[in-house]
Amino acid sequence: LRPQTLSLSEVLANLSILLDRLLGEKVELDVVHGRDLWPVKADLNQLEQVIVNLAVNARDAMPEGGQLTIQTRNLNEEEASQMPYKVLQPSDYVLLEVLDSGTGIPPEIREKIFEPFFSTKDVGKGTGLGLSTVYGIVKQTGGFIFLESEMGQGTTFRIFLPRFVEEA
Ligand code: ADP
Ligand code: MG
Repeated sequence: LRPQTLSLSEVLANLSILLDRLLGEKVELDVVHGRDLWPVKADLNQLEQVIVNLAVNARDAMPEGGQLTIQTRNLNEEEASQMPYKVLQPSDYVLLEVLDSGTGIPPEIREKIFEPFFSTKDVGKGTGLGLSTVYGIVKQTGGFIFLESEMGQGTTFRIFLPRFVEEA
């Protein structure tokens, strides 16, 4: 584990071939970066795991195909002020959002999906470890993860990652 300064746009660019392969023909991937994106402080392998796990879940939620959008941007004051978690210093976080146009997550299981081994997939199709791994990594990195989901519309995972700040 080696937290370092990472550019989300570089990390995503380096994953693009893998992501295209994972997503297949039917899922369209858009990666959209905010301007003047701050670097984040995270372990590269862990950050890649977060992105890949979320992308695989998104693909599985769109069996007929669909749209996966990965967005990055700096958290701004206005956005931070509208959020229920006032502890956040807007200038300390970079947002990584993963949006799919899939099935959505039923409200009654939203509490459980981050638990290890919770899966709605057939045996052999899922271990139920993807989101618990994501959750553990985000916590360990010093970030937060939230989800919004609308049945039949899709799901957004929103991750706040700590900005890398140069030591004085
Ligand atoms: P697995 O993918 O192996 O089932 P995960 O921990 O990655 O395990 O996900 C747990 C469960 O959360 C999935 O089985 C699925 O029911 C639900 N889930 C996760 N991501 C999505 C998504 N993007 N859209 C719909 N359901 C999802
Ligand atoms: Mg999974």
